[in-house]
Amino acid sequence: MNKENLYRCHYLHAITHDIMLFKLIPLYDQQINYTPGQFVEAIFDNGKVLPMSIANIPNSDGELEFHLRHNKEHKLAQDFLASLKKNNTVYLRGPFGASVLSKAVNASKLLFVAGGTGITPIKALLEDALLIQKEQKPMELYWGIRHAQDAYQEALLMSWQQQFPFFSFELVLSDPQSYPTWRGPVGMVHEYVAKKYPHFHDETLFVSGPFAMVKAASTLFSGQGLKTEQFICDMKLD
Ligand SMILES: Cc1cc2nc3c(=O)[nH]c(=O)nc-3n(C[C@H](O)[C@H](O)[C@H](O)COP(=O)(O)OP(=O)(O)OC[C@H]3O[C@@H](n4cnc5c(N)ncnc54)[C@H](O)[C@@H]3O)c2cc1C
Repeated sequence: MNKENLYRCHYLHAITHDIMLFKLIPLYDQQINYTPGQFVEAIFDNGKVLPMSIANIPNSDGELEFHLRHNKEHKLAQDFLASLKKNNTVYLRGPFGASVLSKAVNASKLLFVAGGTGITPIKALLEDALLIQKEQKPMELYWGIRHAQDAYQEALLMSWQQQFPFFSFELVLSDPQSYPTWRGPVGMVHEYVAKKYPHFHDETLFVSGPFAMVKAASTLFSGQGLKTEQFICDMKLD
């Protein structure tokens, strides 16, 4: 059983109207040792449990970064933020999850498919691949967003694209009607990727986002030749 660790919030910032970026540091010297791509569970309000993906690679002071959607569809996230603002501390347990880079050693190319704040663990995976592992394989990120302002990591991704020629990313807007000036790709991100890859070969895909997106992607991609072990996500799909 993973033991619980007490963490203090030392940074809390509304990055969009319904996404909060916050950073937690261990209150005592006990910290959660994790691999980029993994998630933790926040325990609050007498036993409520919220899974949260870690957005950064491990650092010396054990700081953990999180990005949390807290609109009306995410009531538990709203309760969590209310508790965090009141107590400024939270118990975390973990790490959990198997979406880690070592799963893709045999891949010729890494594809990352993110939906909304599903970008969170993928940011950590990319930091690990680009900055730690110095991976040189072709890497493509497809980030599905409903609203243009949801592209809150665009500047970081642009800087990586300039710095690392084998890394590229595309934003795919699923609600273009509200952005008449949008000139980029539109539609559901998994359908966009499926059009670009009518037949999968030895790519490995890291997929993270709303359950319905991950499920739809798994079904569509397996119909285009992607084997189960090439589709990496932390959602229980069956
Ligand atoms: C282990 C685990 C960890 C989690 N970690 C986090 C976390 O760190 N932060 C967090 O906010 N939540 C987390 N969640 C909850 C959940 O995954 C997120 O709430 C979800 O990813 C947020 O989606 P969104 O509202 O940003 O996506 P939206 O803005 O609703 O959608 C983004 C894109 O996803 C695609 N999409 C959306 N709906 C569908 C659909 N029905 N069919 C096909 N494609 C669709 C579209 O391309 C759309 O543009 C976690 C859940 C689990 C199980």
